[in-house]
Amino acid sequence: MYIKTEAMVLREVEINDADKLLDILSKDQGLLTVKARGVRRGSSPLKSACQLLTLSEFTLFDYRGKLTVREAQSLEQFRPLREDIVLLALSSYFAQTTAAVAQEDAPNPELLSLLCNALYALGSLKKPQELVKAAFELRLACLAGFTPDLSACGVCGALEPERFDLSSGSLCCAACGGGEGGIRMPLRSGMLAAMRYIVWCPPKRLFSFRLEGESLTELSSLTEAYLMTQLEHSFNTLDFYKSMRYYGENHDGII
Ligand SMILES: [Zn+2]
Repeated sequence: MYIKTEAMVLREVEINDADKLLDILSKDQGLLTVKARGVRRGSSPLKSACQLLTLSEFTLFDYRGKLTVREAQSLEQFRPLREDIVLLALSSYFAQTTAAVAQEDAPNPELLSLLCNALYALGSLKKPQELVKAAFELRLACLAGFTPDLSACGVCGALEPERFDLSSGSLCCAACGGGEGGIRMPLRSGMLAAMRYIVWCPPKRLFSFRLEGESLTELSSLTEAYLMTQLEHSFNTLDFYKSMRYYGENHDGII
């Protein structure tokens, strides 16, 4: 049986002499593991379409539940990301977190769309890395079922509380306390408005907000901590991105 589907390559593992196992996020089939035979040979027609972070039209052969790539044509390779190792590292983190949230046999076109839009915002629109990272992480948490309650303080109902609780995903005034044990991060000026925008805006407008300086840096730390807390997971691609970014900033951007 043949299956035709549009999908993004989220993970690749080399096997045998010339093959790869790919995790791909399909628009209509959810997360799939597929084998790409001979793809590491220079002459393989599958090569460019089966690269990490490529959106491709796949024709898969299904034999007793094992999927093999028969044909693949790349639709979007996000080339600007491949020319900058820091952006590529951040994109790889986006791919790894997407794979952690995606499920087999559960189509989630919003998830694929979020990833594509984030890669486009980073590479082609040249949006600030921290802005794209923060918006992606918070929206990904929402798609994973962890939409925070950003309406008001969970205790007194005040509309502009100064703290965000990472475990409960709720707001809390400094004076209200908000119970025992949770980790509450301070909200600097503009952060709460940005978070509300990210959670409530239409998908196509996701990266169209403004926040700068320390507020943006702290928002990126907060959304990262929230995603890790909710998924109960850490990501080696995030550590790699941070090390690349640190190195770049301390060597005049030359890597
Ligand atoms: Zn309160």
